[in-house]
Amino acid sequence: METEKNYDVIIAGAGMVGATLACALSRADLRIALLDARCPEFEWSDEAYDIRVSAITRASQNLLEDLKVWSRIEAQRLSPYREMQVWDDSGDGHVHFDSADLGEPDLGHIIENRVIVKALHQRLAELNNVSLLCPVEMKKLDINDEAARVSFADGSQIQARLIVAADGGRSWVRGQAGIGVHGWEYDQSALVTWVKTEKFHQDTAWQRFQPDGPLAFLPLTEGYSSIVWSTGHEHAQALRELDEAAFAEELAESFAHRLGAIEQVGPRAVFPLRYFETLHYIQARLALVGDAAHMMHPLAGQGVNLGMADAAALADVLLEAHARQRDLGDYRILRRYERWRRADNRAMLFSMDSFKLLFSSQSQAIRWLRNTGLNVTDRVTPLKHAFMQRALGR
Ligand SMILES: Cc1cc2nc3c(=O)[nH]c(=O)nc-3n(C[C@H](O)[C@H](O)[C@H](O)COP(=O)(O)OP(=O)(O)OC[C@H]3O[C@@H](n4cnc5c(N)ncnc54)[C@H](O)[C@@H]3O)c2cc1C
Repeated sequence: METEKNYDVIIAGAGMVGATLACALSRADLRIALLDARCPEFEWSDEAYDIRVSAITRASQNLLEDLKVWSRIEAQRLSPYREMQVWDDSGDGHVHFDSADLGEPDLGHIIENRVIVKALHQRLAELNNVSLLCPVEMKKLDINDEAARVSFADGSQIQARLIVAADGGRSWVRGQAGIGVHGWEYDQSALVTWVKTEKFHQDTAWQRFQPDGPLAFLPLTEGYSSIVWSTGHEHAQALRELDEAAFAEELAESFAHRLGAIEQVGPRAVFPLRYFETLHYIQARLALVGDAAHMMHPLAGQGVNLGMADAAALADVLLEAHARQRDLGDYRILRRYERWRRADNRAMLFSMDSFKLLFSSQSQAIRWLRNTGLNVTDRVTPLKHAFMQRALGR
């Protein structure tokens, strides 16, 4: 365990968002403690893919390039998607997005979460002002006028002028600070895995909307695809328990054999889906980022992209305050971050929730509306371009 006890900023959670924030803050002469209940994984066999992947937008790519992290991702493994095919099972609605229409090389990249985390931590290991404390168990959080203090299970303590909660959707820090959330559990879980398909995925992200939820095939390297299959809780559990051959058959069937037979299946896991936003993103000496502040349906793959935008905005506000020798935990400074991010996040959360509702409805009128909507989007160029710009995170 690190012996130094005083820092400028404590970041609780060294996942994709917490580590991005640490990289962004490390550009100033700040002492940063980045802590996590688990130490990041750095060794694995490249024969298997991580079952957790993220669609990373151009905006997040630009940030990671700026932080000298992107080249480390490229040195590992990533997969560009140049096109998106989205269609509705209940009608003839279909939309096809092609990066070439915007003169872009791709619409984003599918990257394994462990690759992103490793690249961020490789960068952090080169910096001398970020201390990684892991594995640690936080036991107590005291926030007073002077500092935020964390007490660990081993009896040690650290303190800083500001603590940032980047400890995910079930944030312990958020709970200790008594910050409430507004949201609900969805009637769907996401089954995730990776597969090898008979036909090549054509560097395309495919999404079929079915009555019980969207089924996505996201392109990985060497013709493999990552699967995010959102469906009712019981169906998701049943799919997880099927033997490999039966699962492969049901998956191919549910995808209308668009990529042919499923030839190989990776391990499977199920995640119940939630929607929420915290009532506040900040308190004096505390800020929330990423899933600690908001969670949404993964149907458009935006969660971590919003989290990285939170990290970039908070770093911007804090670095400016530090340059002016202001107190980083001052409520008025943190309020700038909250105002900046809340409007953007809310718009995305609302859109994703509306899409989820729109595509779940079996009402004839709504089915007509969404099929027409998809076809209109496909045919009206400015609308289509606007969706693609949004997918790029612009
Ligand atoms: C099926 C699925 C598919 C998704 N696909 C996409 C996608 O394509 N694109 C996208 O942008 N987003 C996607 N998301 C959302 C994305 O995974 C999350 O938004 C992202 O993981 C949030 O990152 P985070 O760092 O905020 O939280 P997390 O990834 O949850 O990291 C939290 C960190 O905090 C640590 N931690 C937790 N509790 C404690 C504690 N008590 N003490 C210390 N440390 C703690 C954890 O160990 C972890 O390292 C998807 C989500 C799901 C469920």
